[in-house]
Amino acid sequence: MATTAVGQLREQVRGETITAEDPAYEEARRVYNAMIDRRPSVIVRCAGADDVVAAVNFARESQLDVAVRGGSHSVPGFGTADDAVVIDLSRMQAVEVDPGTSTARAQGGATWGAFNDATHAHGLATTGGIISTTGIGGLTLGGGIGYLSRGFGLSCDNLLSAEVVTADGRVLTAGEHANEDLFWAIRGGGGNFGVVTSFDYQLHPVREIYGGPMLFELRDAATVLRFYRDFIRDAPEEFGGFPAWQIAPPLPFIPEDRHGDTFLIFVACWAGPLEDGEAALKPFHEVAPVVAEHVGPMPYPALNSAFDDLVPPGLQHYWKANFVKELTDEAIDAHLEYGPKVPAVNSTVHIYPINGACHRVAPDATAFAYRDATFATVIAGMLPDPAENEDNIAWVRDFYEATAPHSEEGGYVNFMAGDDQERVKVNYRENYDRLVDVKRKYDPDNLFHLNQNIRP
Ligand SMILES: Cc1cc2nc3c(=O)[nH]c(=O)nc-3n(C[C@H](O)[C@H](O)[C@H](O)COP(=O)(O)OP(=O)(O)OC[C@H]3O[C@@H](n4cnc5c(N)ncnc54)[C@H](O)[C@@H]3O)c2cc1C
Repeated sequence: MATTAVGQLREQVRGETITAEDPAYEEARRVYNAMIDRRPSVIVRCAGADDVVAAVNFARESQLDVAVRGGSHSVPGFGTADDAVVIDLSRMQAVEVDPGTSTARAQGGATWGAFNDATHAHGLATTGGIISTTGIGGLTLGGGIGYLSRGFGLSCDNLLSAEVVTADGRVLTAGEHANEDLFWAIRGGGGNFGVVTSFDYQLHPVREIYGGPMLFELRDAATVLRFYRDFIRDAPEEFGGFPAWQIAPPLPFIPEDRHGDTFLIFVACWAGPLEDGEAALKPFHEVAPVVAEHVGPMPYPALNSAFDDLVPPGLQHYWKANFVKELTDEAIDAHLEYGPKVPAVNSTVHIYPINGACHRVAPDATAFAYRDATFATVIAGMLPDPAENEDNIAWVRDFYEATAPHSEEGGYVNFMAGDDQERVKVNYRENYDRLVDVKRKYDPDNLFHLNQNIRP
């Protein structure tokens, strides 16, 4: 890599240009998943869209790989690569809310924490991730599943338009009336088509929710899972939440002698009228005895950061994912076999409901194709000690193999591992060919290939 070219880049950008000689390099090259240890050539911490354009042009002209990073949560570590140019958007966190139109414009590197705080001030929210440190960028571009999905659709369904820097360095608007093909593709197609420097979202009136986690004994897990499967089919769309396999962390609401025990938990989020919350959750209180719970009214952003401490940066991650149409008894049996073996307090398995409003969007209306899946399952192996990686990965793979015969071929791209590239095509089903066409138009040389890649 020519030093003069890097010097020119450094002069061009308003943010930081970091190379291996800089003291900031070691910290700047790190991503959220500590299993990923790469040494990029240059890390550009962009201050705005102009910096993104400069970094894209630099990478293309220098024929270097490009890794794009927002919240840095990519489990396969797509936000970095050896010898690559990293376009780091983490300084681009601004979120502006227009309460008059119930919309928000957020810069491409914002986290859900920053986003939710800004919108909450106006009593508004949109579908986002369940951990506040996740980036809006990667999450929205892959689809976006969260507590509000049943009511308001996926995060990408709430996207009104976006500003995208394409591989040739142009700054384009993608929306219903501008570059419609690009707009279609970025709603589910991931980071394949360019760097999104800002996202415009539709917001909805959500201020306080009624919810939180409830812990059930393993012996009641089958009953709770079967109940959840039936209940969620026709539950009011204000009802969100998911069951999870979870080792009890040492939290005050859990009896001390149960810390470290494994439970089937249900995390509920009632986003309807607060006074109806208790009644909305009653069926879960009646299905089996609740060992411990932390349920009640709370600000929406509080639930969306409640589990942050379980997943700090620096853990080892290996994940797998499936879409599920019917959570059959056989599928539940597979969960009952592997769920109780969840290896660490950080690890978990979530079965997110994606019916309701998600189903009302046609499968070809956006790139996100699985509009008939009822659930998105993630098997998330996360723990601090690299020495345990082998066992952890084996648990994730065994769990996945056991549930795969009862699941769809595809899974949610954002929950998939780096070794799932061969599943990209099935994940997009009938939309895949159209995605390839859009890729050929906007990124014919596959500059943006460090992702679940759609090859031109
Ligand atoms: C702890 C944790 C919790 C999660 N919870 C949820 C959840 O509740 N719901 C859910 O749907 N998913 C969830 N995910 C998965 C999440 O959607 C993906 O990991 C996603 O890629 C994270 O986005 P990011 O911006 O933080 O990641 P990054 O690593 O920064 O980005 C991942 C990839 O997305 C693309 N990308 C990111 N930003 C941009 C941009 N502005 N322009 C162009 N491309 C971009 C790039 O290809 C990049 O390599 C979670 C992940 C983790 C680790």
